[in-house]
Amino acid sequence: MKLEDWHTHSELCRHAVGTIEDYIKKAVDFNLTTIGVSDHFPYDFLSNIERIPYKEYAITLGEIEHYLSLAENLRDKYESKINVRIGFEIDFFENQEPALNSQLEKIIDRLDYIYGSIHILNFNDGKGAWGFDDSRFREDYQSYGPDRVYMEYYKTQEKMLTSNHFQLDILSHFDLPKKFNDFPQNKEPIENEILKILDLVRKKDLAIEINTAGLRKEVKEQYPSKEIILRMYEYDIPIVLGSDAHNPDEVAWEFKKTGRMLKQIGYNQLAHFHQRKRTSIEL
Ligand SMILES: [Zn+2]
Ligand SMILES: [Zn+2]
Repeated sequence: MKLEDWHTHSELCRHAVGTIEDYIKKAVDFNLTTIGVSDHFPYDFLSNIERIPYKEYAITLGEIEHYLSLAENLRDKYESKINVRIGFEIDFFENQEPALNSQLEKIIDRLDYIYGSIHILNFNDGKGAWGFDDSRFREDYQSYGPDRVYMEYYKTQEKMLTSNHFQLDILSHFDLPKKFNDFPQNKEPIENEILKILDLVRKKDLAIEINTAGLRKEVKEQYPSKEIILRMYEYDIPIVLGSDAHNPDEVAWEFKKTGRMLKQIGYNQLAHFHQRKRTSIEL
């Protein structure tokens, strides 16, 4: 099996440990053919995020150049050993795409791929935006309840996919609201919403990430669930593997086991990105 890990962070985002090079070295040890460097894109130009401790969520605008040049130098240094691909994991905030794009356009030509993510929700009820996958916001999660959180999450994902101004190549950790093992009681409306999202992904010709971080969390399951991956396969949606490593020891987390599951489902190819063009490799 040829395996590639597209989702890694580093100490630059302030909630992960290790340098970018530490992650690349681990990937070389594991004989991966590609390692993707995909740290969190800055939040510091966004508005209405007063409750979000964003200084610990991402690199800052002032650090973008440092991040990119570091990653580019490492890409060249390790060229004979492994493909280093450079991207960002970018959060979607409704109506804030112009502010995002004015920053992103300066460097977008240097990126191999963009992960589109949702970690922050805003119910517009005066309580402000909050991070549903951050354990410090568990009270908010519990007060809204899983049914509302899941629905708001997928509605936001739908807005991200229908926005004409938000650029992405890969949809990350698809069913992240399950992280702490919370599940909706009324499954049907959520399942219908998921089908809508998959249809949008297919129409936009995007890839979806199989993210193994969920296996390290309370839910003990990759994102998305096997049930959703089966549907993705039916829809012919391309996939990539991502460990979402926040520690070099998490690079390629459970990839062999996950790769076997994907093959058993029928997938025999993985998507690959270079300068934001998608090709595929054999799994
Ligand atoms: Zn992170
Ligand atoms: Zn994420």
